Amino acid sequence: MLRRPESVPTESTRLAAVIGDPITHSMSPKLHNAAFTALGLDWMYVACQVPKGQGGMAVSQMRQQGFEGLSVTMPHKAEAASAVDQLSTSASRLGVVNCVRREGDQLIGENTDGLGFVQALRSEMSLDPNDLRVIILGAGGAARAVALALVDNGAHVGVVNRSPKPARELVEIAGSQSSVAGADDIGHADLIVNATSLGMNDDDPLPMDLDHLADNHVIADLIYSPKQTALLRAAEDRGLPNMNGLGMLLHQAGEQFRLWTGLEPPIKSMAEAVGLNLE
Ligand code: NAP
Repeated sequence: MLRRPESVPTESTRLAAVIGDPITHSMSPKLHNAAFTALGLDWMYVACQVPKGQGGMAVSQMRQQGFEGLSVTMPHKAEAASAVDQLSTSASRLGVVNCVRREGDQLIGENTDGLGFVQALRSEMSLDPNDLRVIILGAGGAARAVALALVDNGAHVGVVNRSPKPARELVEIAGSQSSVAGADDIGHADLIVNATSLGMNDDDPLPMDLDHLADNHVIADLIYSPKQTALLRAAEDRGLPNMNGLGMLLHQAGEQFRLWTGLEPPIKSMAEAVGLNLE
């Protein structure tokens, strides 16, 4: 459906939104509106502040409120999984939803985070996950999504986490090509992924001991604000290939766009909208 020339929303404009709390920092409106504009679609994407505990209600109301698609961010990802009618395979294994699409009157919960990471790895680092030895630091929601997608694409994943229980649970979900690992295993990896929240604040400790870094390592950090964490700075200083979390954010949004519209996402326009240079 093409947007009316004056770009003013009308009764035929299709709506999509992100729900979260807080939501003001979200880059999702920039990403999705850039995609709609690039393809001349009569769609509009808005950010909705939905307080904790009301995410499930917001999801189930999307039919009445006329939303075609929802992105779901913290703290509503688990609640959204309970509010939809069906879950995709990855959302069901993860137990969390970052995207809801409509199929007729049915709400389908999806999770595009892991695929977003794998696509970023391929396009930014030219790395194929097949047979890659990966250490993931962290075992929270993002670590789970990334670990499952990497294992599904043939990688061998070791999980290093401060608390043993979430690491064991992650490995149970990800299956036999994953294991709970320790700091001593980091040296044997090809790729190290920081999926902890350490690095978001200036005074955070490093998520790993830098003595474990080796010349063959590629470093990925899921954090995109700040653009360069202390871990990525250390990688850069040692001349190691590295990427931050902006590519994952971009590609998970691209997959959401594809699910809602059935169209190939205009990744270049979306990247430009958030200052990511794909050259
Ligand atoms: P989460 O579920 O809260 O998990 C946080 C993880 O960090 C846990 O493994 C936790 O370990 C670990 N951690 C926290 N504080 C720690 C500390 N002081 N020492 C050691 N480990 C610590 O968070 P999440 O949703 O997975 O998000 C993790 C990061 O990924 C965040 O920075 C988020 O911004 C980023 N992210 C990026 C994208 C993207 O598109 N690029 C998408 C999602 C998330 P314990 O289990 O021991 O508590």
